[in-house]
Amino acid sequence: FARSLEELRDQPAETIDGTLIRLNANIEFPHEVASCLERGADGIGLYRTEFLYLSSAQEPSEEDHYRAYSQVVRAIGDRPVVIRTLDLGADKMGHRPLADHEHNPFLGLRSIRLSLKNQDLFRPQLRAVLRAAVHGDVWMMFPLITTLSELRQARMLVNVVAEDLAEEGIEHRQDIPIGMMVEVPAAVLMLDRFAKEVDFFSIGTNDLVQYTLAVDRSNEYVADLYQSSDPAVLRLIEHSVKVADAAGVPVAVCGEMSSRPSRALLLLGLGVRSLSVPPNALPKVKKAIRTVSIKECEEIAERAMTLESAREVDIFLADRLRELV
Ligand code: PEP
Ligand code: MG
Repeated sequence: FARSLEELRDQPAETIDGTLIRLNANIEFPHEVASCLERGADGIGLYRTEFLYLSSAQEPSEEDHYRAYSQVVRAIGDRPVVIRTLDLGADKMGHRPLADHEHNPFLGLRSIRLSLKNQDLFRPQLRAVLRAAVHGDVWMMFPLITTLSELRQARMLVNVVAEDLAEEGIEHRQDIPIGMMVEVPAAVLMLDRFAKEVDFFSIGTNDLVQYTLAVDRSNEYVADLYQSSDPAVLRLIEHSVKVADAAGVPVAVCGEMSSRPSRALLLLGLGVRSLSVPPNALPKVKKAIRTVSIKECEEIAERAMTLESAREVDIFLADRLRELV
């Protein structure tokens, strides 16, 4: 097994008709970079920085952020790292109480909303990202963007901290790609507008499923309704990829959906050419990519889009995967 892992590491994530797929990894901690490289990741497609908060006893300082990001950037070499800004709130709570009791935390003060409201929390992180960008190919991504106004506020704050750093004579880079997660249906519907103001998109299916189907992603009572293969979710993804392609803005998928081989092939069929998956899923997803042609994936997607339920889609995908891989 170790040998096949090694062989696979050095082979490209390429379909049999020669289409190169970017296969990145999702991480939560710097030490995970090693296992990504062992498995041949093209880069880090999602670095969930809120784990810096969740794993330490005190609130991290700008230096703590900077150290962690620099460690990741240096370890990955010249490959890109997408650093996602804090995604705290709801299921991921920090050190201080950031909101009083909320009836619907997933609809509440979480993620970018929380960062914009707590700038003393957000600014040190933004400064650290721009500082770490000196050491490699750093991209910055905002989570849970719902309105253009949120995106503009976040981008403005990046400009402000960059000016501060320049004034203070601290080494940094400002000219890095800035993008957003697509994980709220409102953002999907407005994607053509967002496309004019970002350098890249990354579809977060974990939250997109939750908000599209009105199913709490952490609630076991409705877990059977939480399906990324639901036709409504597929339509939103299809639409996002079309709009992003038409605007010439790169789009990736970084939710868990992309780590299931059959769903990954469906995503390729919908036009996705960049996936980001947990490190342990890299080999199986790469293996699946290397056994199909884009035409086969497109046929899978075309048929899947005619089906009426997640169950039908899953049965169809399982059958096709058995035939192909
Ligand atoms: C997502 O929502 O799909 C995602 C990748 O982010 P998280 O799971 O951290 O919310
Ligand atoms: Mg999310």
